[in-house]
Amino acid sequence: MSGRVEVAGVSVSTEHFIGGRRVASDATFTDISPITEEPIAEVARGGDREAGLALEAAEQAFPAWAALGPQGRAERLHRLADLIDANVEPLAAVECMDMAMLLRSLRARLINRCARNFRNYADLAVEYEERVWSSNGTANRVVRMASGPAVVITPWNAPLMLSTWKIAPALAAGSTVILKPAEWSPLSCSLLADLAVEAGLPPGVLNVVQGIGEEVGAALVSDPRVRRISFTGSPETARRIGVAAATNIVPFTAELGGKGPLLVFADCDLEAAARRAAGQYDDSGQVCLAGTRLLVQDSVSERFLELFHRFTDEHVLGDPRDDATTVSPMIHPHHVERVLGFIERARANGDEIVRGGNRLERGLWIEPTLIAPRSNESEVVQSEVFGPVLTLQTFADEEEGVALANSTRYGLSAIVYTGSAERAERVGRALRAGIVWVNTFLVRDLTAPFGGIGISGIGREGGQYALDFYSDLKTLQILE
Ligand code: NAD
Repeated sequence: MSGRVEVAGVSVSTEHFIGGRRVASDATFTDISPITEEPIAEVARGGDREAGLALEAAEQAFPAWAALGPQGRAERLHRLADLIDANVEPLAAVECMDMAMLLRSLRARLINRCARNFRNYADLAVEYEERVWSSNGTANRVVRMASGPAVVITPWNAPLMLSTWKIAPALAAGSTVILKPAEWSPLSCSLLADLAVEAGLPPGVLNVVQGIGEEVGAALVSDPRVRRISFTGSPETARRIGVAAATNIVPFTAELGGKGPLLVFADCDLEAAARRAAGQYDDSGQVCLAGTRLLVQDSVSERFLELFHRFTDEHVLGDPRDDATTVSPMIHPHHVERVLGFIERARANGDEIVRGGNRLERGLWIEPTLIAPRSNESEVVQSEVFGPVLTLQTFADEEEGVALANSTRYGLSAIVYTGSAERAERVGRALRAGIVWVNTFLVRDLTAPFGGIGISGIGREGGQYALDFYSDLKTLQILE
């Protein structure tokens, strides 16, 4: 294995990054591009040895990184943010080939968001003062201690954005990090390691270990030297990682799947709501926050459906590097099969396929699919599909709409379309979700808490919530 490959004209290391240097493994795994379905890299496949090396490096680097303090760490994290901004083009090009997200979204939004993650947390950690107060004749102080090596495990969709969302608060709070990116899109995170060197992050502060979840991922999360585990991915994997976290009594956050409702009330701007609903096919529906259950008030459902079909017809399924494309291919042939399985089982269950339902003859696309379920208990309503599959149900009044919206075990996000400020407030409060967007979608303030209810997750990230997670808070009481 040469150690580097050219992807979209960019040189990318296929090796791990441990203790400030590249490390090879005897074994590799093949990374394919969803655009061409061709192999683009043979990537190092870590195991127990690489997990051990990374933990050793992260442990060694920890005391000096923690001792730098928030200000010293912020300087380096700002440098890293600047380097990300200066490298939007190569980062976007590689991630597009590796994961097939629309190139224009990566260029315009997602890569800059990675830089913002670092800036936001670097500044927050400096601003976040210790609380001091007097009581019972003692001076009290909350002291934040950096907690030690953190393992960060991330999924294949938006790999760099989701990884930096965790790495940034961990590093800002004084933890050292071992990142294990997903095996279906490992390359953009490898570029981040190169930028970390350029930004002057000391060796061992950020480590990137590549490989399969059940192999090196499992080895990392079960190592007793780990002080924090932060995971984004599926509930199934969270259960396994949770067992390892419980065994070692290690704090664990999990940002998991979603099955968000998109509630359309009769009093809303119906065109905006229908356009938003058709927009849930973006990225082939591979978005945890997507509003995949369309819940529409009876009185406007016919008109809504007409508009929805019109906007969905405008979608262009194509190469994510083309400006005209609105729906990119799905991540992997196995994932296409998994999503087709949901559609087949829905058919067999008697759910009505209102539109789509088929795979395109070539490439990794499934047609934008809409299913009217036979009942609210249908699998396609109750389980996350993570593909271009939406369901359509109607409701008579607000009470029924909210009850349907809250009727799955997920609770990550919800979207509401209404023209009434009172309803926005009432419904927003009644929905069981970590975030509710009213008449908008995907707008995020990085200081707000973010996370799921039910099987959508454990804990909150964002702002001070993430900094708290990576810190050991201590109360210091001194007699006055
Ligand atoms: P996944 O759970 O299969 O894998 C996620 C990561 O876990 C990968 O890096 C994988 O290698 C690793 N992993 C697998 N088994 C492991 C083990 N035993 N020990 C340690 N690590 C292990 O999820 P996926 O298919 O990559 O991602 C899709 C899922 O992620 C969907 O459910 C989606 O909703 C969710 N997601 C959630 C959010 C959020 O913010 N809540 C964001 C994006 C994606």
